[in-house]
Amino acid sequence: MPVKVGIPRALLYYYYYPLWRTFFEELGAEVVLSSPSTKGVLTEGLKYAVDEVCLPVKLTFGHVLDLAGKVDLIFLPRLISVKKAEYICPKFLGLPDMIRRLAGIPPLIDVNIDRYKSNNDICLAVKEVGRLFTHNHFKIWLAYRRSLKVHRRYFRLLELGLMPAEALAVLKDRVKNEPLPEPEKITVALIGHPYNIHDPYVSMNIIGRLRTLGANVITAECLPEKTAGSYASRLPKKLFWTLGQRMMGAALYYLERPDLSGMIHVAAFGCGPDSMTGELIERRARTMGMPFLSLTLDEHTGEAGVITRLEAFLDMVSWKMAGTVGAIKSSS
Ligand code: SF4
Repeated sequence: MPVKVGIPRALLYYYYYPLWRTFFEELGAEVVLSSPSTKGVLTEGLKYAVDEVCLPVKLTFGHVLDLAGKVDLIFLPRLISVKKAEYICPKFLGLPDMIRRLAGIPPLIDVNIDRYKSNNDICLAVKEVGRLFTHNHFKIWLAYRRSLKVHRRYFRLLELGLMPAEALAVLKDRVKNEPLPEPEKITVALIGHPYNIHDPYVSMNIIGRLRTLGANVITAECLPEKTAGSYASRLPKKLFWTLGQRMMGAALYYLERPDLSGMIHVAAFGCGPDSMTGELIERRARTMGMPFLSLTLDEHTGEAGVITRLEAFLDMVSWKMAGTVGAIKSSS
């Protein structure tokens, strides 16, 4: 019987799931993903998470609880830094400690991921996790090489304009002809943490709704990391967190794109980094006369309100494109 490793469908799942899954499967484990986010998953998370944490962290509690009883181990790395000379939000660092106190959950694989000093420091984490499954160092190394290959392909698909769920479907089905998004009349940049905008429950399917309303949606993940980094470096002071930098760099890049029709910033209630990047992006968008909408999500956000605001925003974008309004300002 293969060891069952559970992966919560939350936080950096949206970036690293193909890599993690391939790595564990190459080592002979069976990977079990938590169920898609629902009201029930979030409600469970809310019961056990402290009030002060942000919505995505509360939801992660629910995803871990969803895996309890289904797996032998849960992969919940302690993410300190995923890129040289940069840190990730400290909530990621403390997450395994917050989760461990939950009763009835399987042991955690909470290896430290810390690339602050060197990108090569990941090798220590790879070895540590690999040794849980085999003592064959070559097998561990090969599993890592293969998982990196899948990870690179996944990001190439995202850069083609596919959303994570679409890119995962391409990887899973080994589709040869990768579907490209249709060019649409309105292009909207949706800027937010991947675990907020790509989780259809948390975001109330904002991407699907924008597409249904006739918009082409681009996100920070559609842009190569290097490009986002180079635009983010134009700020007088470097932003502290890796994901915030990526979002900020993408926003600055997209604001210069002549085909961009509007920008939406999605923030999670209780997120300090979001309030900072949201403010910076909004100021820049307004200076450039770009239609801008700011949405803050929490467990009480009403779906009807979000839909109404999206529809109103797209109406204004269309009017602007048709030249019926000069400068549009829309935000809350
Ligand atoms: S960056 Fe914000 S939303 Fe993400 S984990 Fe940290 S506080 Fe939560």
